[in-house]
Amino acid sequence: MGKRLKSSPKETSVKLRGKDGFETYYSSLFGARWEHLKKSLFSEPVYAEWKAGGTDSYFLDPASVFAALQLPLCGAESILDLCAAPGGKTLVLASRMPENAVLVSNERSSARKQRLSAVCASCLPEDIQTRVKISCSDGAKWCLTQTECYDRILLDVPCSSERHVIQDEKYLGEWSPARIKTLSMEQWALLSSAYRLLKRGGYIVYSTCALNYAENDGVIARLVKKFDDAEIVSFEEKVFLHEDISAYCTDSLDLHPEKTEYGFHILPDVQNGCGPIWFSLIHKKV
Ligand code: SAM
Repeated sequence: MGKRLKSSPKETSVKLRGKDGFETYYSSLFGARWEHLKKSLFSEPVYAEWKAGGTDSYFLDPASVFAALQLPLCGAESILDLCAAPGGKTLVLASRMPENAVLVSNERSSARKQRLSAVCASCLPEDIQTRVKISCSDGAKWCLTQTECYDRILLDVPCSSERHVIQDEKYLGEWSPARIKTLSMEQWALLSSAYRLLKRGGYIVYSTCALNYAENDGVIARLVKKFDDAEIVSFEEKVFLHEDISAYCTDSLDLHPEKTEYGFHILPDVQNGCGPIWFSLIHKKV
């Protein structure tokens, strides 16, 4: 696939802005691959149907299901989805959680929290709904009042979402690398909060739908530098966590994530239009 750069070489010398800046930035990151990858970002989205047992099914990108499945839930009693709306990954976690586990699903925006509540009410069976607690606050601040209290955390952060940017002339016109910088700072605030909320021996899946290094490996690089007890699970020989999900989803999830420095990328040019999703599995040593 060729080596990807960590940042655009032109970033420091030229002011990158708008459509041309976007093109320059991402063609520098992905090199010869960019043209094909760019084309795939315009393809029709691909959906898997997730049947959690409630009245309605939920449709989400198979790559999102794949990332949420990488959080090992066996033995977990307290699970947190810190940035949860509209709720696709919350459903994947809620369907798989052990019978005695509680899932806290949080969302900062009150409008989006309403959507999360509606999704849980229509897609989850009542017995599981009673074990899903929905909250609405800034996840970056949770660590100010709580510490080491969750066994597992899914952190699906707000990100650049280049697939949406490239399809919208207005967003594309407003694009600049400053947006990546701002988002990576928010992501770091959320990840460092989540890490403090994680119990010893626990796991976090950090995920984004971003293409760039700064919001993916770059945030994890900062975590391993700051916390001695953080280790990245490497999924040696590409053995990803896969339990039997046939009761919920008929999609084969035949995806082959590409290894990056600290995680894995599922990119639509080589995964039949699924993604982009980047994810990393983090373990807090006992
Ligand atoms: N995991 C969701 C799903 O699968 O449906 C998608 C999550 S989306 C990528 C990120 C969400 O995080 C957005 O709904 C956004 O409003 C929310 N968010 C942004 N900043 C937040 C914060 N500081 N605390 C909690 N939620 C936040």
